[in-house]
Amino acid sequence: MAKSTDDRKERTRRIIRLLKGAYPDAKCTLNHSNAFELLIATILSAQCTDDRVNIVTADLFRKYRKAQDYLKVSPTELQKDIRTTGFFRNKAKSIQGTAKVLTEQYSGRVPETIEELLELPGVARKTANVVLGNAFGVTSGIVVDTHVTRLSRRLALTTQKQPEKIERDLIELVHRKDWVIFSHLLIAHGRKICKARNPLCAECVIEKLCPSSFLKTGVLPGS
Ligand code: SF4
Repeated sequence: MAKSTDDRKERTRRIIRLLKGAYPDAKCTLNHSNAFELLIATILSAQCTDDRVNIVTADLFRKYRKAQDYLKVSPTELQKDIRTTGFFRNKAKSIQGTAKVLTEQYSGRVPETIEELLELPGVARKTANVVLGNAFGVTSGIVVDTHVTRLSRRLALTTQKQPEKIERDLIELVHRKDWVIFSHLLIAHGRKICKARNPLCAECVIEKLCPSSFLKTGVLPGS
């Protein structure tokens, strides 16, 4: 397997091309109808599946339509409304803290720069990148979640473990125009084929480009 940065860039380009062919509809799977809803859904998605978040937000977004609405209820009431997404006390705190800043400083709107988003309570790079890339079409970085972490490491696009460091490596390899779609592609592939426990290497469209393939190593790749 070639090791130079140029070779890795070329391999990454080919991986993206094949994944685009396999997942032509890859996109954000958190239901939302505006940037604010996407921000709330992304906060809720920490340590939770998108399917579960979508079940919760179907009711949540009917009850809370704008930032001010989250400030009209007690923390306990909001915790109850988001309970099944897990870590509900911290998430309720982040949502109400974020709603307060948006109401007081941005007239209820979601800011469109990464610096401003990172100032919001409970909003880290992953959430900021999701909102900017998917609600505003701004390529601020690459979303690194559990699937992107696992696949990037298996594909030897990074050796890092921390999301910020993984993102730094990926930004070097992925063309900027593909930063947003790249995460959606890896997430789609991670859910369907390159699963955490039992990756289906024999069915994988990028198997030839993957140094961790079970077919080459005879060893199931780690997570
Ligand atoms: S070959 Fe296996 S480990 Fe590599 S990306 Fe495909 S499914 Fe994942």
